[in-house]
Amino acid sequence: MSKKTEKATKKTKQPHEHPKQASKNYLRIIAIVVILFLTGLTGWYLLFRDEKPEFSGENAYQYLLQQTEFGPRNPGSAGHDKCKEFLIEELEKYCDRVGKQEFVYFDKQDSTKKYTGTNIIASTILHPKKRKRIMLCTHWDTRPWADEDPHPENRHEPIIGANDGASGVAVLLEMARVLENVDLDIGVDIILFDLEDMGDHQAQQYPDSLNPFSIGAEYFVRNNTRYRPTFGVLVDMVGDSDLQIKKESYSVVNAKSIINRVWAAAEKVGANAFVDIKGDAVFDDHVPFLKRGIPVINIIDFDYPYWHTMADTPDKCSLESLQQVGDVLLEVILQE
Ligand code: ZN
Repeated sequence: MSKKTEKATKKTKQPHEHPKQASKNYLRIIAIVVILFLTGLTGWYLLFRDEKPEFSGENAYQYLLQQTEFGPRNPGSAGHDKCKEFLIEELEKYCDRVGKQEFVYFDKQDSTKKYTGTNIIASTILHPKKRKRIMLCTHWDTRPWADEDPHPENRHEPIIGANDGASGVAVLLEMARVLENVDLDIGVDIILFDLEDMGDHQAQQYPDSLNPFSIGAEYFVRNNTRYRPTFGVLVDMVGDSDLQIKKESYSVVNAKSIINRVWAAAEKVGANAFVDIKGDAVFDDHVPFLKRGIPVINIIDFDYPYWHTMADTPDKCSLESLQQVGDVLLEVILQE
């Protein structure tokens, strides 16, 4: 045997391995794989957890379109029924509890007419560490008449309400989606009021014969006397592509500190649609709360040329406007 072959033989000679030793090696390999996998998983989780939650204006705009596709959503219409189911289904995906508060309202102008309204109440974080809740609200119904339309023949037609109805809901649906993955110490309630927009303009002077605005919100407040959120924010008509949100007067007078908090958040996130100008007093769903000493402010751009007209359609709204409002609300919540 030459030296060369001896070497080759040595090389090919298999070391004798005890079966117990082999299984130990396998276990070692498995352990290393498991450790690597867990390390990766933890890293991914930490990265994911630290990621700042993002409100998507694009998603919100899709929510706006989806609502308008149901047609007008005034009480009693087919669009109202279909949209109600859609809203409940969507909120159930993201919130810990979704409830319906149904009520019947008898028309004061026409005693043969009655309407069934539904307030939709969605809650997230039912038992927060800090025993504190914030309410985000809007109305989901649309006005049954385009009584501000420039063309008299349209004034008895129901409106689509892309801005007045769908925009506030769009922001809150997207907010529900975002909040599902946020670790919060506080609870958030998202409430969609019904029958906000079938009021008569002189109703405060003639309460016995004319229908008021904010029927659903008033019903909610009257029947949930133990519900007292730390504060609330109402969003209404926030989709206008030419968005400018002034400080609504009832809110400034009755809930100044919440106005300050929201405008500070707007400055922080660079939402320049929020301007430091005092706006009109707008009777809206925050008023029933303010009357009972619950601080709820109204984020509204009431300077909208298509208000209560047939032209309140999605093309007048923009995802950038919904984005700004969503960014501000999210910042307000994250600061709590
Ligand atoms: Zn309206």
